[in-house]
Amino acid sequence: MAGIAPYWRNYVDGHWTDGGAGRLTVTDPGSGAALAEHALADAADVDRAVQAARRVHLSGALTDLRPVERGRMVQAMGRYLLDHIDEIAPVLTSEQGKPLWEARREVQGAARYFEYYGNQAETVEGRSIPLGAGYFDFTMHEPYGVSAQIIPWNYPVEMTARSLSAGLTTGNACVVKTPELTPLSNAWLARAAEAAGLPAGAVNILCGLGHEAGAALAAHPDVNQIVFTGSVPTGIAIATAAAQNVVPCVLELGGKSAAIVHDDADLDAFMNDVRWGIYFNAGQVCSAMSRVIVHESLHDDLVERVAGVAQTMSVGPGIERREAGMNMGAMVSDKQRDRAESMVAHAAGQGARLVTGGHRMNIPGAFLEPTVLADVTPKMAIANKEVFGPVLSVMRFETEDEAIAIANGTPYGLVGGVFTRDLDRATRAARRLRAGQVFVNEWFAGGVETPFGGYGKSGYGREKGREALWNYVQTKNVAIRLKG
Ligand code: NAD
Repeated sequence: MAGIAPYWRNYVDGHWTDGGAGRLTVTDPGSGAALAEHALADAADVDRAVQAARRVHLSGALTDLRPVERGRMVQAMGRYLLDHIDEIAPVLTSEQGKPLWEARREVQGAARYFEYYGNQAETVEGRSIPLGAGYFDFTMHEPYGVSAQIIPWNYPVEMTARSLSAGLTTGNACVVKTPELTPLSNAWLARAAEAAGLPAGAVNILCGLGHEAGAALAAHPDVNQIVFTGSVPTGIAIATAAAQNVVPCVLELGGKSAAIVHDDADLDAFMNDVRWGIYFNAGQVCSAMSRVIVHESLHDDLVERVAGVAQTMSVGPGIERREAGMNMGAMVSDKQRDRAESMVAHAAGQGARLVTGGHRMNIPGAFLEPTVLADVTPKMAIANKEVFGPVLSVMRFETEDEAIAIANGTPYGLVGGVFTRDLDRATRAARRLRAGQVFVNEWFAGGVETPFGGYGKSGYGREKGREALWNYVQTKNVAIRLKG
């Protein structure tokens, strides 16, 4: 991208620093060209960041503040992002591949987290517990101290904002490990912290390799709480490291989420859910609608219409896609694109029908055609493994019980959806779906205010909503013996 700085540094203890592990080249997946270099942190850099955060925590610079003052700084970070959206969005598009309008939405979404959690700072209240005459007992919620936050590449700005805003508002000092593929746009989160007046060391942002800087951060003995968003194998490694230090962690992992489409569903409206559910961010969304389980009476009609949605998508460089519409950018890397393409080929080999798409596009960059597979059966790999790409698997059902069993039949449980005009059916499904969030008649319904997180291998703990705050604080009980 023209005008982009050739070299980007880490932000540790209020300073922009080089990395002990050298430099990393960041590639533009929309063209395949090298974009910039980023400092690569090693374990010593991670240690400096953790120590800086620990000093801030122990100094009381965050915890002694009246919560409203902390909340105002958190809110100011969001405003900073909005003020700089014209700078951030093109960088995000260039490193991640998403259309420019999607990058702008991501920045707006990130700002929304700071607005929401900044507002919550003064709502974290304890309670008093009656113990009879002679005692006064109350609880208070204290921050853990140093919060380590490990971020994935699909929504780098929004995911960092999600954890950082809740972590700071509750008084934690934070160390963020940004993703190797998309580290650049996180620089504005460091600048936002500085502009908002947070003390040096309250927010540290480093890029480093997962197995090196990420592992060092997860295992650091002075980290008091970990938030991880990413894949299941990495989540297991991080939870293992957390267990060694006996610190809590929140795991937001993947999904293989299903929409159940009943025979009375509004198919016209559902096409909009397909567009957003599987082709937003080129399907690289943990809560993507990657499976549709449709009643057999609607099956053929639905497959034809869904193929129409896929074929209408205009796919190409994100930087040229400025306006919201039926368009999609590159996947994040050639590796991710190749993986998705080979999973589609494997599904076809197992008997799935490739209705449309399924192939890389004949242009430079990591582009995959919007894809629809039909005749997918529950035992196929494609029905169980997360593709993390623009690939929809359509399955069919006869009875409601069968639909629920298919939906619940993977190791995951992030979100689920049910499409019907029948309130009883919808409510039954909401109860029976093993997922942290259920959408009725609109995929992705909800917002920053609504708790988000998984059942099963999709993880534990919650981000978003009031629920997330309780992951960042520990409860202390104070019991006072009164005289007389
Ligand atoms: P990933 O697990 O490969 O990497 C995520 C982060 O972990 C990166 O910053 C990486 O450097 C770091 N990491 C890798 N190995 C590590 C180790 N041993 N110790 C510590 N850190 C390590 O995941 P990804 O490929 O970046 O992201 C895609 C995955 O994330 C998908 O499975 C997707 O479903 C999931 N995801 C989940 C959510 C959610 O909220 N549930 C949101 C976005 C993405």
